Amino acid sequence: MQNSGRNTLPDYNATALCTLKSRTGFFDSHCHLDFLFNREKYRGTFSDYQAENRKTFPESYRGCIAVFCKPWTFAKVRALGEIGLDYSGRNNCHEDVQQAVLRRQLRIARDRKMRLVIHCRDAHEDCLSILQEFLPKYTTFHLHCFTDSWTWAQKWMDAFPNVFIGITNLVTFPSAKDTHEVAKRIPLNRLLLETDAPYFVPKKSPYGTKKIHTPEWRSGSCPNCCAEGN
Ligand SMILES: [Zn+2]
Repeated sequence: MQNSGRNTLPDYNATALCTLKSRTGFFDSHCHLDFLFNREKYRGTFSDYQAENRKTFPESYRGCIAVFCKPWTFAKVRALGEIGLDYSGRNNCHEDVQQAVLRRQLRIARDRKMRLVIHCRDAHEDCLSILQEFLPKYTTFHLHCFTDSWTWAQKWMDAFPNVFIGITNLVTFPSAKDTHEVAKRIPLNRLLLETDAPYFVPKKSPYGTKKIHTPEWRSGSCPNCCAEGN
């Protein structure tokens, strides 16, 4: 890696990342395959998609955790999410309604003993406090697409020591200073890589692609991605 000069973000060779060797391989911890396929008007299976787009997956890619929003796609449900609060300007749903829905979803997860994937945008105080109402301190869950400060990351890890914090390809943008700081300081055993595909193409990607589906050189944030089109 080379330093890019004025920016504190090191430069990176996107093509080389595709050939990085890894004993465990890369797993994308959060990926919207249905949105990705809709955008590309793709109708085949994920295996077919991989075979047809082999060059766009890193050699050490081993799989992804897919997130689905449409009930008719819920064939193999392993976790509830992404659920949470989004107070950003991209969400028109009133905060009170969001909180009521989140509490209802957390009750479902508790009753059914399901894992959680949490979406939290500009709502850390309320989200943390509602989760603390429902979840024991040592609950394991995925706080996905974290884009806030290291201070907030620490607050989450203090409140829930087994939380996993997901970082997307937003980290490749020089302007994403908070995300750089979190990436530098977070203990590796608390970090997850995710694409949040099809959102957020990284700063540099091989072949100049404008679509994303694999971590390391394709990835993204999820400002209320459960409403495709936002
Ligand atoms: Zn998402």
